[in-house]
Amino acid sequence: MKKFRIPTPKSGGVILSYKCSSECKHCMYYGSPKWSGDWISEKDLEETLTQISNYIQESPYGPENVSLNYGIHFTGGEPFLNYDLLLKAVEICKSLDIPSTFVETNCYWCKNDKITKENLVELKEKGLKGILVSVNPFILEFVPFERTERAIKISMDVFRENFMIYQLYYYEQFKELNIKDKLPLEKYLQLISIDDLKRNVELFKMGRAIYCLQDLYKKYPINYYFNENCHIELVRNWHCHFDNYGNYMPGYCGGLSWGNLRNLDSLCNDGINLDEYPILKALIIGNLKGFYEFANREFGYKEKKDGYVSKCHICFEIRRHIISKTDSFKELKPPEFYSYI
Ligand code: SF4
Repeated sequence: MKKFRIPTPKSGGVILSYKCSSECKHCMYYGSPKWSGDWISEKDLEETLTQISNYIQESPYGPENVSLNYGIHFTGGEPFLNYDLLLKAVEICKSLDIPSTFVETNCYWCKNDKITKENLVELKEKGLKGILVSVNPFILEFVPFERTERAIKISMDVFRENFMIYQLYYYEQFKELNIKDKLPLEKYLQLISIDDLKRNVELFKMGRAIYCLQDLYKKYPINYYFNENCHIELVRNWHCHFDNYGNYMPGYCGGLSWGNLRNLDSLCNDGINLDEYPILKALIIGNLKGFYEFANREFGYKEKKDGYVSKCHICFEIRRHIISKTDSFKELKPPEFYSYI
């Protein structure tokens, strides 16, 4: 069979660990304090960054600047839970000349001005180009907003134009609402309408959202999604992810892997035989109907009677069912991903 060319990554996030200080209801990677914290080793980190350094493209504003879908960002989980490893990652990137590096954080660690400034200045001195501060109602359940505000104020000072807020809408809204502390989602939804939340948050109906936020969305029977497939999501080459277990993950699709990063050159140059990756094959060149029929026929997967909020909901339910029966699919990685729900 002709080999399938997998995307050559031009930008991406390096997941240092899936362990997080929070357990956000929208997290696409099921980040949680419950993960064992299998932090990537320094040796694997060096190997991973060396492999991907050949492919990463700089921001359109230049290598010293950052943009969301260019360069490399450090993510998780929460990268500041292992600050020494984050520093090491920044140093390695500098030695490899990887452009447009930034870190993504939920700001849980910004407990006072001193520690916040010291860490950000040190990271910048080691070579980090910028920072992305996450702001949304799900993080607000775990991180007092005054810490987010502190991170923003000091990041602007340290990183200047290389500072991003994701999502600005919520930063402005929380300021207007004069929020300072944490706020449970139920209380937040008493202040704003559910429609406002659905309209303004960029919320992917995948990851933990399919379980924790499913009441926000209408559910449909499985055949509603039968004609959909995932070619676009899986073969894009921007904002891919590379995890601490060595997986080259397609796009935002947690729990799926093109293969091990050690083989990135051959994966990208030679391609893969899709017959050896039946699940990816079904999602790329088939459709959800074929994937469901395969899972039903081979593994006895049964449609959920209460329906699904998205195609990713079906995809994940089926993958979770399959991995509970067999570990023989090499694209279902890491296996831990399916046990931290
Ligand atoms: S359905 Fe599966 S493969 Fe497709 S975008 Fe969603 S998680 Fe990714």
